[in-house]
Amino acid sequence: MRLVLVGPPGAGKGTQAELLKTKLGVPHISTGDLFRAHISQQTDLGKEVQEYLDAGELVPDEVTNEMVRDRLAQPDAANGFLLDGFPRTVAQATVLGEILAADGHALDAVLEFRIPEDIVVARLLARGRADDKEEVIRHRQQVYRSETAPLLDHYADIVVSIDAVGEVDEIGERALRALRGDR
Ligand code: AMP
Repeated sequence: MRLVLVGPPGAGKGTQAELLKTKLGVPHISTGDLFRAHISQQTDLGKEVQEYLDAGELVPDEVTNEMVRDRLAQPDAANGFLLDGFPRTVAQATVLGEILAADGHALDAVLEFRIPEDIVVARLLARGRADDKEEVIRHRQQVYRSETAPLLDHYADIVVSIDAVGEVDEIGERALRALRGDR
């Protein structure tokens, strides 16, 4: 299954992706995790992107898209993937469509995590990642609303939405039911 997870920062996409990858048998590909790995290994790419992550700004597309292109070309992604944090803009979605179409593939679904902003902000304040300072958190929510939320219209035909408020296991069940098309 070729799946994209969409939802505001702090919605629990990464946690759910870790649950779902076992059930669906596809790798969890998080662009945020890939960037953070580059930063901690102090690669050239890591040095280039650090300031964007620290500020909660999107990394430029030419860097992000090529990193994703390389990752999707790895053998473990040949039969599907759970993309978490990409695409984050309609322009990135267009590039993803081209990458998949080149191999005759397409996305199966876009899973939307619906959750009120005050809940995610409280959650992120408690999490304490390097970019979890209040000002940066608020900025990331703003970037989500203006840049990423329009993806839900872009992908309207394949969006499956779930209520992402609740316990981790319960949300995982909702996700699986929604992806199976159950009500
Ligand atoms: P995340 O772990 O998904 O919250 O991403 C953390 C940070 O990584 C974001 O605030 C951006 O700086 C950067 N990032 C992750 N994914 C993307 C993307 N698709 N496009 C641009 N920047 C991204």
